[in-house]
Amino acid sequence: MRKRNYLSMSAALAVAGALIVSAPASASPNPLADPAAQTAQTPLERQVLPQSDGWASAGAGTTGGSAAEAANVFDVSTKAELLAAFAAAGTQPKIVRVHGTIDANTAPDGSALTCENYAAGAGYHLEQYLQDFDPATYGRSEEPAGPQESARRVAAANQAKSIRWDIPSNTTIVGATAESSITGAALRVNGATNVIVRNLTVRDSADCFPAWDPTDGAEGNWNSEYDLLQVINKATHVWIDHSAFTDAPNLDSEQPEYFGRPYQVHDGAVDVTNGSDLVTMSFNRFSDHDKLLLIGSTDSPTRGDPGKLRVTIHHNVFENVGQRAPRVRFGQVDVYNNHFIGTEDSTVPFEYFLGAGFDSHLYAEANAFTLPAGVDAADTIRRFKGTSITTVANAVNGKITDLRAEYNAAAAPADQLAADTAWTPTLRTQVHPAQAVPALLQKSTGPIFTAGGNL
Ligand code: CA
Ligand code: CA
Repeated sequence: MRKRNYLSMSAALAVAGALIVSAPASASPNPLADPAAQTAQTPLERQVLPQSDGWASAGAGTTGGSAAEAANVFDVSTKAELLAAFAAAGTQPKIVRVHGTIDANTAPDGSALTCENYAAGAGYHLEQYLQDFDPATYGRSEEPAGPQESARRVAAANQAKSIRWDIPSNTTIVGATAESSITGAALRVNGATNVIVRNLTVRDSADCFPAWDPTDGAEGNWNSEYDLLQVINKATHVWIDHSAFTDAPNLDSEQPEYFGRPYQVHDGAVDVTNGSDLVTMSFNRFSDHDKLLLIGSTDSPTRGDPGKLRVTIHHNVFENVGQRAPRVRFGQVDVYNNHFIGTEDSTVPFEYFLGAGFDSHLYAEANAFTLPAGVDAADTIRRFKGTSITTVANAVNGKITDLRAEYNAAAAPADQLAADTAWTPTLRTQVHPAQAVPALLQKSTGPIFTAGGNL
């Protein structure tokens, strides 16, 4: 076991988010895929998840494509190049370095694809859809069915074919510089294993064809399909680090309302569902987005979720966001040293941060909450069907606050949450005091690595 380094606060600030480096303990048969062999000179794309850094470090750990042969290192600056890189070399380790901005809504020749292009030939027209399913005539008891709903599905399938991209197993995808981004895509780790995503901005996976569901909630909802990054179908060992996830510049608040409900064109930021497991999200920046991290999409145990959905979320910043940071079902989810920032003039309606869903095991320690007037400590937690949550040494506006006690004091008797005695997180590197977190994370989250890639 590698000796753990404990940093002073100033040292931690100096290398915040960088790897904590120690001398290699011994030669490894595969030095490129050995956390202990990493040094400050190891290039960004050759780095692996450090030992004990969250659930993705369990077992064999997460090495992504760090050991790729030179032939399997791809520099990409177009959609075609990116997809060709994903398709190359099977599941051999591969490194994909993203240069500039890659737009998913483009044709193979690089020209832009619009929502109208996807709808062409499908016969879908929003005005007709709104007429056909107006609650005043269609009612509110049935989900839409009819020619316009069928046409919507055809158009949506056209878009999905264009923007839904699966990152293969044993891949590291990195932004070559802090300005690298992918826009309009619905990235997935779909049944794959051992994937690293770092130093990359992922933005605006807008759905051209939101679906009206009058049975969703009391007033109905417009639902969109795409997450910025979806970890799905028993995907395992995924490390998402120093990346940014945002709707900007296409905020849902700029969309109209139809049937009195917001026409929301985005779904999750990073959702982990359908039996996926062993994920670490560190030093990311989540901003200008409503639904963030859905961990488990159903209360039903039939999709392999019980015993899985183990996720560590540490040293991330959440700013101008709505809900699900995270919302958990089933999984043991460690949430520590994050900064949750509420703003007075928010363009995203605030709901809550920590959602305790069915059979959830949320452990929230040493997080910092910066809350505006009108948002109380009790509002940070919402119970769905959960029965417990552990909260330890979190700070609200700089003051250590017992979040669970504050929540219970405001909640109805049926919504009380007990302390979770089922588990205590062990896969952590260093836990900072909650009050130190805002300053620590101010400049150390999101894509911060510039060309060259060394830390
Ligand atoms: Ca919904
Ligand atoms: Ca989703």
